[in-house]
Amino acid sequence: MTTHIERVVDPHILAQRNTPIEALITADIAPRLSELLSQPEAEVLVKLVFHKEGKAVRAVGSVSGGMTLCCQRCLQDYSERVAIDLDLRFVGPNAADSDDDVELDDDGLVEIRALIEDELILAVPLIPRHPEGGCDESIIGQYMVQETEVASAAPTRKPFADALAGLNIKKTQD
Ligand SMILES: [Zn+2]
Repeated sequence: MTTHIERVVDPHILAQRNTPIEALITADIAPRLSELLSQPEAEVLVKLVFHKEGKAVRAVGSVSGGMTLCCQRCLQDYSERVAIDLDLRFVGPNAADSDDDVELDDDGLVEIRALIEDELILAVPLIPRHPEGGCDESIIGQYMVQETEVASAAPTRKPFADALAGLNIKKTQD
């Protein structure tokens, strides 16, 4: 078992040697993810087991734990739970025939850290929020007062908002 994640791995070798990965995601491993978090260290454990499947290598496992985000309703930190099942198929260059297939480079290597980091970045909500009922309502009360004051001081015309509405931007949200 390896308890840290190399930047790049050879899935065929990991399968041959029967070496699973079981490691914590740290800020140095996932710098792009860290920028999205309130606390740079996610408390997330990655587990991956590699085995050969014909010419390909399959890696099955999970990413689970918590990421500290700032709730956009009460502006307090909270832990967003993450539980992602991983089922990856590593294939040769230009051999991918489904979205789940990951192509190895010419040397049979893959940037595994970036791959797992991408999965976690996708798990960060567009608008982070406490689970229903989890916000500190006393803080929201204060915030609402400020928001009303700002609204009454602002001009009624909002050229920027009007321009955005004209662009007909489609908001996607899970
Ligand atoms: Zn909240």
